[in-house]
Amino acid sequence: MTNQSFNQSNASFNQDLLTFLKNSPTPFHATQSMRSRLLNAGFQELKEHEDWQISEGGRYFVTRNSSSIIAFTTPTLDFHRQGWRMIGAHTDSPCLKLKPHAQVKRHGYNQLGVEVYGGVLRHTWLDRDLSIAGRVTVKNQAGDIVSCLIDFQDPVAVIPNLAIHLNRSVNDGFKVNPQEELLPILGLEKEGGDFLQTLKEQISKQHPNFSVGQILDFELSLYDVQAPALVGLQQEFICSARLDNLLSCYVGLCSLLDAGTERPSLLICTDHEEIGSLSACGANGPFLEDVLRRLSPEPEHYVQSLNLSMLISADNAHGLHPNYANVHDKQHAPMINSGAVIKVNANQRYATNSETAAIYRHLAQQEGYQVQTFVVRSDMACGSTIGPITAGEVGVATLDIGLPTFAMHSIRELAGSDDAVGLYRVLKRFLKLEKLVANT
Ligand SMILES: [Zn+2]
Repeated sequence: MTNQSFNQSNASFNQDLLTFLKNSPTPFHATQSMRSRLLNAGFQELKEHEDWQISEGGRYFVTRNSSSIIAFTTPTLDFHRQGWRMIGAHTDSPCLKLKPHAQVKRHGYNQLGVEVYGGVLRHTWLDRDLSIAGRVTVKNQAGDIVSCLIDFQDPVAVIPNLAIHLNRSVNDGFKVNPQEELLPILGLEKEGGDFLQTLKEQISKQHPNFSVGQILDFELSLYDVQAPALVGLQQEFICSARLDNLLSCYVGLCSLLDAGTERPSLLICTDHEEIGSLSACGANGPFLEDVLRRLSPEPEHYVQSLNLSMLISADNAHGLHPNYANVHDKQHAPMINSGAVIKVNANQRYATNSETAAIYRHLAQQEGYQVQTFVVRSDMACGSTIGPITAGEVGVATLDIGLPTFAMHSIRELAGSDDAVGLYRVLKRFLKLEKLVANT
């Protein structure tokens, strides 16, 4: 491929990534985005409560809680002889979630009570144009309980900073109290504004055939309406909300869609990683095991299939930030736009081992991409992800990998515009990989 055509395909890959990010403000919407792309590509949707008829040469997906998804291809059905090539990522990102009794009236203003979901960089949520999206569960006119997704899209809320004149010491250290100081303002109390009524109107607007009787409950969160963008003199960077970890969901999905069906492949994207993954649809729950057991119902075959399998867990890594270089181990400080990062931790905060890392290095070499390595400074605590959790749940050899980013858990994160397509190509190659380690 010439340089020019490479750049063009890179650009269209990134443009589609920006669309995916924009259309996925919550885990429900991210799952919905992946679901539509899978349906468009001819994948068949399975329901967990139904009987499954899996055929050779099939392509399927299944969702749980509408916020986690597993997609897989079955070129053959002898999984215990072939093993799976699996890619994992997570659909959730740190954010502010509305409390059940969300409406708050203070000093003449309509506000929303919020809970902090995950490790939010709180101050980044100030002075942003915020919208609201998520799932609402209602009783319809027929008396049935039904759910739907909503997305206000317009900026309907804001959390303004306090002026520096009223907080003179703010630049000496700044704390945001989540109970008192993170409440978004929706408007003035005198203009009215019953939040449940507003919600009802939004449902009617988006789902005209959805005859809402009563709103019973909701899971809604705030998000920044600023669209994802390419930034930098040469557009070196991608700036967006939720790069952690929709960037990996997107790359994983594209790899699965484009890998063909040479061998059994699977993509799992789960909710609740940011709060530890322990839930019915999280990586620390039985979703993956349930699906794999249905595909290999014979207990011995199930164990055999996992022994021949490998999972690449993709979640962003910390790139070396030029303003804060000393927080990195100098030997393991990944650069933006220099390739994906293998994440290693002696204490199994990452599940990488020498064999899974070697396999990735080999595939990247074949594809002509650099690989970087991250190890946290020995005097700092290490983060974690779904890699070790999934490895512990189903006993699969796992690699933790990620694209280098800045500002992880900010309302607007930054990644490199060359890195995503590189990871996509290596993952595509991984999904076709015949043998793992020869002497096991
Ligand atoms: Zn993450």
